[in-house]
Amino acid sequence: MSAVLMDGKAASEEVVGALQVRVAELPFTPRLTFVRVGDDPASAYYVRSKERMARRVGVASETRVLPEGTSQAELLAIVAELNSDPEVDGLLVQLPAPGVDEATVLAAIDPDKDVDGLHPLNVGRLWTGRPGLRPATPSGVIALADRYGVELEGARAVVVGRSNLVGKPLAAMLLERNATVTLAHSRTRDLAAVCRDADVLVAAVGRPGLVTADMVKPGAAVFDVGLSRVDGKVVGDVSPDVAAVAGWLTPMPGGTGLMTVAMVVANTVEAAVRRQGHAA
Ligand code: NAP
Repeated sequence: MSAVLMDGKAASEEVVGALQVRVAELPFTPRLTFVRVGDDPASAYYVRSKERMARRVGVASETRVLPEGTSQAELLAIVAELNSDPEVDGLLVQLPAPGVDEATVLAAIDPDKDVDGLHPLNVGRLWTGRPGLRPATPSGVIALADRYGVELEGARAVVVGRSNLVGKPLAAMLLERNATVTLAHSRTRDLAAVCRDADVLVAAVGRPGLVTADMVKPGAAVFDVGLSRVDGKVVGDVSPDVAAVAGWLTPMPGGTGLMTVAMVVANTVEAAVRRQGHAA
């Protein structure tokens, strides 16, 4: 068997196309503001790629770059200013920010501008099945599954990694779609056996090659979210030999990462439409 590659580039371009149409019909321009602290090249790269896609869609975006050493109080003051700025529809603080408590910052963002979907209120909305802004990476995984006809209803889904950013919200979204969900992590016993049970397997750890072919049920859909650099190359958590066993597989790069960017932009349009009171 050779897995169908779930092309994140093609899927994200479809999302961009649909958002372009939607934004063009709006009587206002959605606005997204990023806040970034320090000079971390990875953070700068992530913000740039989200800004680029936002602009392509017709969303106005700006980035406030704060110097390394910015205190938590200073950052919170900027968040408060952007919260109360009626022109700002979406607000994203790129984390981690040195010297800053992430949970405090996330809880300070206006939940209705929280395009990362990580504010506790949005986490609660997700787990209780209410509408709200949802984390981008898990939304991208679900969108890819849907695009490629991966059946989630009734499927056994295993998510390896239990972070607030990826694993936990993805578990909630899979559950919402009536999958039977297992969240695995660093203390999971016999991870290989747990993974082999999965019809839908998501690796969100950040360990190159963690998931090998012998851990995958033949025909399973495998989503590679982990992202590491080895010898300057971007690699995922899923070993290349999995392509011979899986039914579907996301490439790395070119899979889940591009969908994450698209979903942040989609969240901005969603936030803007809701804030401005226009029908979706
Ligand atoms: P994280 O907060 O570091 O969480 C990693 C998770 O992996 C933890 O739950 C940890 O378990 C688990 N883990 C660590 N070693 C393990 C092992 N040997 N076996 C099983 N589980 C293990 O990371 P994150 O923010 O969720 O990100 C995960 C990866 O996804 C990173 O590589 C990140 O760069 C990447 N990422 C990619 C995208 C994308 O768009 N593709 C978006 C966001 C993140 P414990 O909880 O027990 O410690």
